[in-house]
Amino acid sequence: MSNHKKPFIKTGPPGPEAIEWVTRDEKVISQSYTRAYPLVVEKGEGVYIEDVDGNRYLDFTSGIAVTSTGHCHPAVVERIVNQSKRLIHMSGTDFYYSSEIKLAERLNEITPGEHSKKVFFTNSGTESNEAAMKLARYHAKKPYFISFYGGFYGRTMGALSLTASKDVHKRGFAPFVPGVIHVPYAYCYRCPYNMRMDECDYYCVRWIKEELFRTTVPSDEVAAIFIEPIQGEGGYIVPPDGYLKRMEKLAREFDILLIVDEIQSGMGRTGKMFACEYEGVVPDIITIAKGIASGMPLGAMVASSSVMTWERGSHGNTFGGNPIACEAALATLELLIDGLIENARDIGAYVISKLNEIKARHPMIGDVRGKGLMIGIELVREGEKKERAKDERGAIIKGCFKRGLLLLGCGQNVIRLMPPLILTKEDADIALTILEESIDEVEKVAGGRS
Ligand code: PLP
Repeated sequence: MSNHKKPFIKTGPPGPEAIEWVTRDEKVISQSYTRAYPLVVEKGEGVYIEDVDGNRYLDFTSGIAVTSTGHCHPAVVERIVNQSKRLIHMSGTDFYYSSEIKLAERLNEITPGEHSKKVFFTNSGTESNEAAMKLARYHAKKPYFISFYGGFYGRTMGALSLTASKDVHKRGFAPFVPGVIHVPYAYCYRCPYNMRMDECDYYCVRWIKEELFRTTVPSDEVAAIFIEPIQGEGGYIVPPDGYLKRMEKLAREFDILLIVDEIQSGMGRTGKMFACEYEGVVPDIITIAKGIASGMPLGAMVASSSVMTWERGSHGNTFGGNPIACEAALATLELLIDGLIENARDIGAYVISKLNEIKARHPMIGDVRGKGLMIGIELVREGEKKERAKDERGAIIKGCFKRGLLLLGCGQNVIRLMPPLILTKEDADIALTILEESIDEVEKVAGGRS
């Protein structure tokens, strides 16, 4: 679809129209939004975005890992249009409609495990985790949750209490929901215990059992472990093989619910429908949002039927499982299964191998990691011990924007690549060329300084 296109910068960026919109925005829109650079979007098609000044960009953000099938995929658009002519809203909390039921059936089929499951629909990731917290407390009747440093679970009060990614997310908002215990994640590039992977025997998992449960939190009072199979916002941190399986074993040993947050890593992004499938892990609850409906706001919490024991009326919402969003999700699922997951796996492996070649030429790249099209590049300062290249990260992302490539950061010094899963090799090569040019430029400036 996108083969004939290329990034094209006509004016700016930002051009005059964009500057005008940004000025208006600043007067009326909450300043809490992050806004990495002044991209004012006019339209999107496939892996390309056009701004209000007619500049064209390759989109390696997918609207924060959402537009899995590319912008405005015709099959998704058709389903949205058709459904919007029949029914826009009725509320799944009080009534029934077929698209919501069909989607729940499909989600139960595609989520790990052959057992019986049930779905609760939401409008976002944070709400999916909020629902999971409530269900876990309700079902287990225990007070504690375990979540992870670097973890990002959302920004509403419950999910924010699990989140431990950046202080700015939490400053000014305490007190949080009580009962959340944060523990270190398997960030082997910067091991929190200063150990080496080949000799630690998953110390970060063992520590929970040997230290945390022994000293601080009785294991029989823990309702659930909330874990991302790959940490997203915290820095695209890929734990070593076997880590998630160990965590599952720990949960089973102590009768703790395993809640896997696949909000960013799910829906094909990593080259499997869900990232936890790489480890053969079967969660008690799986939380989903982002890529599920190609950009329509939708989330889901899928729980084992034996866990979903809450009573009628105990949880609900007005908009969750909107029929248009459900139809978009059904279309998205078809596209994912018909080739996009495979494409994410193949093109992702290609991009990672090319990035490793680029890494060999650029001392600023400390680590390249990822699965499928969920890829992180950790930037460090040359000659110093993995010192985080935070400013350089920002400069590289801005340099890419000026050249027609849209990127976002995560963690303190990581660039994340999360393009739509329709990405072709040709577009990947264009993006990598722009990225390397931008790294070159920033390295020259940094070199000039030292
Ligand atoms: N969980 C993970 C892993 C995420 O990456 C995010 C968002 O970035 C969320 C939860 C929260 O999702 P939302 O922003 O839709 O509330």
